[in-house]
Amino acid sequence: MTDRPLVHAVNVTKSFHHNEVLKGIDLDVEAGQVVCLLGPSGSGKTTFLRCINQLETIDGGRIWVDGDLMGYAERGDKLYRLKDKEIAAQRREIGMVFQRFNLFPHMTAIDNVIEAPVQVKGESKKVARERAQALLDRVGLGDRTAAYPAQLSGGQQQRVAIARALAMQPKLMLFDEPTSALDPELVGEVLAVMRELADDGTTMIVVTHEMSFAREVADTVVFMDAGVVVEAGPPADVIGNPQHQRTKSFLSRLR
Ligand code: ADP
Repeated sequence: MTDRPLVHAVNVTKSFHHNEVLKGIDLDVEAGQVVCLLGPSGSGKTTFLRCINQLETIDGGRIWVDGDLMGYAERGDKLYRLKDKEIAAQRREIGMVFQRFNLFPHMTAIDNVIEAPVQVKGESKKVARERAQALLDRVGLGDRTAAYPAQLSGGQQQRVAIARALAMQPKLMLFDEPTSALDPELVGEVLAVMRELADDGTTMIVVTHEMSFAREVADTVVFMDAGVVVEAGPPADVIGNPQHQRTKSFLSRLR
């Protein structure tokens, strides 16, 4: 399936009880591209990210990541739910960074980073440590590998969380408002790391309210509202010259 984008989502629907949160979302993300999801609170952005990563089960539609149909096997025109173990294997290919960093508090930075490669992938501690050191260097924390989360600022903890996600060598990185829990003076250091990942060709989907990041880093900006994609395109169009009233009023409220 080399002709397909890395992420190919078609008509994704998701309800919680009677609340239809995703009403037929389509999204394509080419390998190496950065997509920013924008939209008001409650529009379904987080839910959509969680669906890509199988933290939520979709009700309708399909999501492929690198040719794998997420959560299902397709035989003829029938879909079969994959076993938990198979879904876990698919999820391992996708890194996710949350609003809250969720580091293990009783482990040092480097132990947080090697945990999954060692426990889940069965990598040797030596190999995992070498990569973790390189990743912590890359996020600017090469000299804080022995620090515990409580000894690090929020921005530093979030950078460890990014290194931890990268340690699994994912095909795709999902970021769910990674800077919104940070004090304003710490936002820049996390965005700088994300910019570098983007420059290095990491495929990323980022839910964010950071307009300058979206404008400067995104290849595509997707504006969602009330469970639908209202408009999508290059940032110069969607942010610079929005066509829809809903996009215009959302952007004007941010300024
Ligand atoms: P956004 O990320 O755009 O703020 P969300 O995806 O978090 O939006 O939420 C979309 C809607 O889905 C909201 O109305 C929210 O209350 C609802 N929702 C999200 N998760 C759940 C859940 N686990 N159970 C019930 N409702 C949920």
